[in-house]
Amino acid sequence: MDSRIAVIYGHDAAKMTRALLEHDGTAGRIGGKDASIVLKPNLVVPSDPSQGATTHTEIVEEIVSYLIENGFHGITIAEGAWVGASTEEAYRKLGYHRIRDRYGVKLLDTKKDRYRKLSPCSIPMEISETILDADFIIDIPVLKGHCQTKMTHAMKNLKGCLSDRSKRDFHRLGLDLPIAALNTVLHPDLIISDGLCGDLDFEEGGNPVDMGRMMASRDALLIDSYAATLMGFSPDEIGYIKQAEEIGMGSYRKWDVVELSEPERTSAKPSGTAARLSAYTEPDEACSACYASLIHALKRLEEEGGMHAIEGRRIAIGQGYRGKAPEIGVGACCAKAGISVSGCPAKADDILSMLRTL
Ligand code: SF4
Repeated sequence: MDSRIAVIYGHDAAKMTRALLEHDGTAGRIGGKDASIVLKPNLVVPSDPSQGATTHTEIVEEIVSYLIENGFHGITIAEGAWVGASTEEAYRKLGYHRIRDRYGVKLLDTKKDRYRKLSPCSIPMEISETILDADFIIDIPVLKGHCQTKMTHAMKNLKGCLSDRSKRDFHRLGLDLPIAALNTVLHPDLIISDGLCGDLDFEEGGNPVDMGRMMASRDALLIDSYAATLMGFSPDEIGYIKQAEEIGMGSYRKWDVVELSEPERTSAKPSGTAARLSAYTEPDEACSACYASLIHALKRLEEEGGMHAIEGRRIAIGQGYRGKAPEIGVGACCAKAGISVSGCPAKADDILSMLRTL
């Protein structure tokens, strides 16, 4: 098992992507220069990435640029939007035609590909042949909430490799086991995670949270288990992670995180649900990753009906609290707080544990 996860903080998607690829040594991991390489972003709906649903186009473009510079040319960007949405419209609106024309890569709408019928875990599914036959798959999910599975990330992003009929079947079967089963036959070689501003609780976007983070890993189950904790969940609470463990894909509760940079301050103004939850916070020069952890923890606390414990209180966070002693504080900057959570950035699951004690 490869338990390494590289994490980089910031807001410059292209620069962060390049650093993750170089850290991974991706070019050296792909076989011959004629290898077929599939890039699988999340374009579930044709909405701008700033809304929290879709992969930032700069990430995909930087991966393409890196691969071309390293002599690879068999590159296909492949995606199938959710049932009822147009992949082509997403490609057009989000700048993928320009990438195709500039770099000479292929754009594949998996809704129009040929499918191979497989039945992992006795669940029939039609999977894009192009993706199944690829020599190297780069999964480029958005870390965001999901109305049915609580979160969606690397493993669930592969649902875009299915026919619309299989997508519908997955929903009919409750998603968790089908997603785990799909991941027994599709194994991304690299996951480049877009954790820049994924949605707080809905896969279609609209409540983006500035997280200022990207990650890389070679194992979808590993990075999803870790990502769950960043949203304030235990991996045990995510059904498809549990199912994956039960069918023998492994189990992760520990990971080796390598941080390639330090957290950056946020300048984003929370909107939607995040703005409502921000009423319980008192930020002063807070970093994106730390503040997002606090918002995710508050969301989890709200879902479990625990907000009464913090009514009338405000949680301090940010570099402006260094040396000060607020009542409750989050992150290393608030180490002198009466009640504090360590970490730089603090993690959502740790913050939630603290909030439950109030
Ligand atoms: S602890 Fe302070 S410096 Fe570290 S991420 Fe949080 S706000 Fe930023």
